[in-house]
Amino acid sequence: MQYEFNIQVSPEIAAHEDQLKIHVGAKNGIPVADIRHVEILKRSIDARQRAIKINLRLKIYVQEDFVENTIGLPDYPNVTNAPEIVIIGAGPAGLFAALRAIEMGCKPIILERGKDVRNRRRDLKAINRDHIVNEDSNYCFGEGGAGTYSDGKLYTRSKKRGDVQRILKLLVGFGATNQILVEAHPHIGTNKLPGIIAKIREKIIECGGEVHFDSRVVDFKIKNSEIRDIILSNGNAIATNKVILATGHSARDVFELLYQKKIVIEAKPFALGVRVEHSQELIDQIQYKCEVRGPYLPPSPYSIVKQVQGRGMYSFCMCPGGVIAPCATSPGEVVTNGWSPSKRDQPTSNSGIVIELRKEDFKPFAKYGPLAGMYFQKSIEQRAWKVGGETQKVPAQRLVDMVEGKASTNLPVTSYKPGLTSADMSMVFPKFIHSTLQNGFKAFDKSMRGYLTNEAVVHAPESRTSSPVRIPRDKITLEHTQIKGLYPCGEGAGYAGGIISAAIDGEKCAQACAESINAKVS
Ligand code: FAD
Repeated sequence: MQYEFNIQVSPEIAAHEDQLKIHVGAKNGIPVADIRHVEILKRSIDARQRAIKINLRLKIYVQEDFVENTIGLPDYPNVTNAPEIVIIGAGPAGLFAALRAIEMGCKPIILERGKDVRNRRRDLKAINRDHIVNEDSNYCFGEGGAGTYSDGKLYTRSKKRGDVQRILKLLVGFGATNQILVEAHPHIGTNKLPGIIAKIREKIIECGGEVHFDSRVVDFKIKNSEIRDIILSNGNAIATNKVILATGHSARDVFELLYQKKIVIEAKPFALGVRVEHSQELIDQIQYKCEVRGPYLPPSPYSIVKQVQGRGMYSFCMCPGGVIAPCATSPGEVVTNGWSPSKRDQPTSNSGIVIELRKEDFKPFAKYGPLAGMYFQKSIEQRAWKVGGETQKVPAQRLVDMVEGKASTNLPVTSYKPGLTSADMSMVFPKFIHSTLQNGFKAFDKSMRGYLTNEAVVHAPESRTSSPVRIPRDKITLEHTQIKGLYPCGEGAGYAGGIISAAIDGEKCAQACAESINAKVS
């Protein structure tokens, strides 16, 4: 017999199946010897009280053996000779679009400006060590997109976006641990993601799809309001009439191209701020209300939102036990973001702390029309580069110093490898952002006592939280409102914010595109 129920237990009991059996048996009057297996279906941490509890949804097997359900992949058909869909960008949106296209009987042809996951590493080293930014291969561009060398957090703020569980199961099918199906806040980690991404690519190719690296799209032709040839930077043209545009929010050249070609795009509000690093030990002490975390709890994340000076200010992409990375995509700018390994075992934690921007904030850049927000974002990244010393060093300030408007006379070593330049954040940000951040950090300390400490260091800027541009599309066909056959997709087009939602949007676009092909064929 099998029974399912919810329980709350100590972290130690939750970590040991034998202790769980005793606990569950005693609570339900079942002899422990009869419980053959305890399967954890969902796990979350309740850290609101001093005595931390683990919430579990369990299935117990009483006098019945447990048979493990291995999660496989869908039966992907061979699509070598099937109708083609060109997919620009091999981020989560592009890759999951390709997989869905195959399921729907279409052949995906992926064009990716960057390199495969393995060769990308060399360019990451070059940014970290030599301050050289390759405009086609960096933390945002290359196989797997911005999601590859990330924390791999797999939750989305909005459950309305679609079938999250389906994407998680596919990731397990491609090699992710099945714990991502259990945890309330699943993550994969930078060390595991590249292998999973490579397996997705291998499957696409095995089914007859194509994946082309070092293939930057620089132009496309439009005839009678319908997409036609795609032009690559090497001059090659690819004839097509179905294109999924999944180039991410950092492909400014793509937004420029659309604007130059008078294809409708819209400015979109986004958020911007700094990345703050604390010791993981301090965050654990604050969140778990203890001196030492203990062996049965993971490094703690935090999530915080405040209204400050009429704007939302919130933590974004928090990486427990993680590292701050240089995420610029062009020379002459600096950008921060964060990643963690699967064990989240680094001594530092970091989080983007950003404030909501509104379209009115971009007024000084109004001459750029729908690209005003993008130019505002770029101007801050360029200013930070100048203030930082015109390398990949970032402007940095101790947190209390920043709040009090004092220069930091020295800075501790942080996880940000290219290095820090001590600078007042008022040199990087316009006054309204600077003062909102200053007041917001004081408010943060009221909710997380000890957060506002001079041991924490602010790195600037965190500027690529979401796309500053939306590429409008029809709600039903998902084609661009003006151009037939063009499917704006994923984060860059403004329809996703994170790995999972980008993957879901990729699937949606491929489905819509394949359905329109299949409708014509039949
Ligand atoms: P992208 O991932 O940006 O992919 C776009 C792809 O298009 C890129 O590979 C790019 O090279 C390619 N491309 C661009 N222009 C062209 C062109 N002209 N021709 C051909 N190819 C082109 N999200 C989470 O959910 N959890 C996290 O933990 C997380 N951590 C992150 C950590 C870091 C360091 C970074 C940078 C991002 C992180 N994110 C995280 C955000 C997440 O990676 C993105 O939301 C997601 O990757 C967006 O997917 P996408 O496919 O829409 O775009």
